[in-house]
Amino acid sequence: MQTKLLKPTPEALAEAAALLRRGELVAFPTETVYGLGANALDADAVLSIFRAKGRPADNPLIMHIHSEEQLDGLVTIPDMARPLMARFWPGPLTLLMPRTAAVPDAVTAGLATVAVRMPSHPIARRLLESCGLPVAAPSANRSGKPSPTTAAHVLEDMDGIIPLILDGGPCEVGLESTVLDVCHGTPCILRPGGVTREMLEEVIGPVTVAGSVLRPLREGEVARSPGMRYRHYAPEGAVLLVEGSEAETLEALRRLYRAAEAEGEKACVLCFSEHAHALSDCAPHDLGSISCPEETAGRLFDVLRGLDRDGYTAIFSEVVNPEGVGLAVMNRLGRAAGFHTVSATEVLRPDHKEE
Ligand code: AMP
Ligand code: MG
Repeated sequence: MQTKLLKPTPEALAEAAALLRRGELVAFPTETVYGLGANALDADAVLSIFRAKGRPADNPLIMHIHSEEQLDGLVTIPDMARPLMARFWPGPLTLLMPRTAAVPDAVTAGLATVAVRMPSHPIARRLLESCGLPVAAPSANRSGKPSPTTAAHVLEDMDGIIPLILDGGPCEVGLESTVLDVCHGTPCILRPGGVTREMLEEVIGPVTVAGSVLRPLREGEVARSPGMRYRHYAPEGAVLLVEGSEAETLEALRRLYRAAEAEGEKACVLCFSEHAHALSDCAPHDLGSISCPEETAGRLFDVLRGLDRDGYTAIFSEVVNPEGVGLAVMNRLGRAAGFHTVSATEVLRPDHKEE
């Protein structure tokens, strides 16, 4: 199949809407990452998303809408969802809602709830409006690869597999939406994103964060969000996160880099802009400013994809404070590293035992 890459002209949007209505797949920009969309009410079309991505069938999709009326007959809106929809939609917040039989099992992997989001990106909104359908769309990457934040990333993964990619330039947030469960007791963040815990709590009070956001699932632990079970966002090379004071972290990164190079690895470090100069002989990759997790969010997936292109085998990274958007950054970085973390003190003084 030939894959067209088109600027979002009115003609291209009409073609994309027609493809969706015919049960075909279209990749389109959103404010979070690029989505791979299909008519959410057409089970065959939805199943072709799983094939194109190589996605496990038990990992449910997010249903994208452009107006709340589209939810009539598809879901029951939980009371807790209403003030959040009023405040954060359109935007990067996905809410779980009890669904009716009108939503195909293929979308929800048979779960009783469906994840719903109203994107704010103008091209996503125009596409959703002109096709007139709810659109099931996961990120437009091959399963296991970092999510695409540019049309070029989508083409890397989907060339020859889907008919059309709408090119809307780089995505603003750069990480996937916040997924919030408002169906069971205290609302719980299953996946952190651009709408932060702090922002949610201002509207609805206490919000918890699923344990597996910052650590691997424990043996026997049931994933509240099926996606958390899978290896994700991972470059081919091994990633190690280094925690500690600024001075110790920089020194530890240097040592780890040199030791890996000495062992024949192709090594690099991921660091904040402020530290790139101090690490200039360690193949530094700039994560953006230490004081702006939004900037790190916007760059992270592009940096991770670049590591594979350049063939790095040993990657050492600084970490961010897991607050605000920093929680989403640490979730993605943690998963890229398989949650492998070391303290800078341990690297510098291996005999030192931390209490
Ligand atoms: P993606 O479409 O790749 O952005 O991933 C969507 C995320 O939402 C995955 O982590 C899913 O496991 C999660 N998700 C979607 N629907 C549900 C649901 N009904 N219950 C729990 N998690 C869900
Ligand atoms: Mg994804």
